[in-house]
Amino acid sequence: MSKKGRVFSGARPTGRQHLGNYLGAIQNYVALQTDYDCVYCIVDVHALTTVETTQELKLNTFEMAVDWLAAGIRPEETILFVQSHVPEVMELHTYLSMVTALGKLTDLPTFKEKVAQQPENVNYGLLGYPVLMTADIVLYKTDVVPVGIDQAPHLEFAREVVRSFNYRYNTKVLIEPQVKHTEILKVLGIDGKAKMGKSLNNHIELASTPEETTARVKDMVTDPARMKRTDPGNPDICNVYSMHKIFSPAEEVEMVNVECRRAGIGCVDCKKRLAANMNKHLEPFRAKRSELASKPDEIQDILNDGGRRARAIAQQTMVEVRDAMQLP
Ligand code: SF4
Repeated sequence: MSKKGRVFSGARPTGRQHLGNYLGAIQNYVALQTDYDCVYCIVDVHALTTVETTQELKLNTFEMAVDWLAAGIRPEETILFVQSHVPEVMELHTYLSMVTALGKLTDLPTFKEKVAQQPENVNYGLLGYPVLMTADIVLYKTDVVPVGIDQAPHLEFAREVVRSFNYRYNTKVLIEPQVKHTEILKVLGIDGKAKMGKSLNNHIELASTPEETTARVKDMVTDPARMKRTDPGNPDICNVYSMHKIFSPAEEVEMVNVECRRAGIGCVDCKKRLAANMNKHLEPFRAKRSELASKPDEIQDILNDGGRRARAIAQQTMVEVRDAMQLP
C-alpha cells in the first residue's frame, strides 16, 4: 500500500521514557507508521544546548531507543536515527540561519523561557535552536510534522524559514512542511498537578517493575477533599480516575465513577485496581524491552542503519540545496 508521505519528528534523548512520553508521543509515533513513511530522530545535538556534560548522552540515547522500539517502532520500515550521525544538518542549519532575521529568534517565547531557566548558560545554540529544528525537518524532505496545538507556532516558524530560503534563491528545493494536528494527551504526574516529567520526579517509568509501578500508583494524589474512607469523592478531579480511563476496562471505569461518588470504594482499593491494570497493559512492552536491552549491539546496529538511510536522503537534499544556491 502506498503511503501518504513522509513524517518527521524528533525528541531529545531523555533516557528511560515514562507514561507521559508514552501516552503523549510514542503511541502516536507508532500509529503514524501505518499511513506514513516515518523518520524519527533522537536529537542529541539539540540536547547540547542545555546539558553541560555529555557523559549521559549515549546512555540516554540507548535507553530511549530501546523504549521506542519496545513500544512498536518498526526499524525495518521506519528510519530511527541519531541527529549527530547526519552532519549535513549542521550545514543546512548554517545556510538557513542566513535567511532568518535575528529579531525573530530573540522574540520567540521559547528562547525567552530558556534564558530565564538557565541565565548562566545563554549560549548561541539556544538562539539558533528553531533554525536547527527547521533544518532537521526539511533535510529529509518531510511532508508532514505531527504537532500538538501548543507547538504549532514552531512549525509555522519553520515554514517561514523555508519560504525565505526558497524566495532568496528563487527555488522550490525545500518543502514547506504541513502540520498534522495531533491531540497530544497531557498526562499529569503522580502529584496530580503538574505535567508528568522526570525533573519533577512525578513520573512512572515504562520500564519500572510491576512492584515499582504499584508503589508509584500508591503515592498518587487523589481528591484532596476525601479525607476519610467514608467521605464521598469526586473522580472528575482525581488523576487516578483519569488513568483508569486509559488503562482499565470500561465496566471498571464506570464502577469507580459511581462508587467513588458514594464512598463505595476506597482510594487504596481504587489504586490497587489501577496498578494491576497498568501492569497488565505494560506487560508485553516490558517483555520486549528486556529482550532488546539484553542486545545492545543490535540497538546500535539499528541506529547506525537508520543513520545511513537518513544520511542518504540528506546528502541528496544538500546536493540540490547547494545547486540552488549556486555555490561554487
Ligand atoms: Fe480518586 Fe479512586 Fe479515590 Fe475516587 S476512589 S478519589 S477516583 S482514587
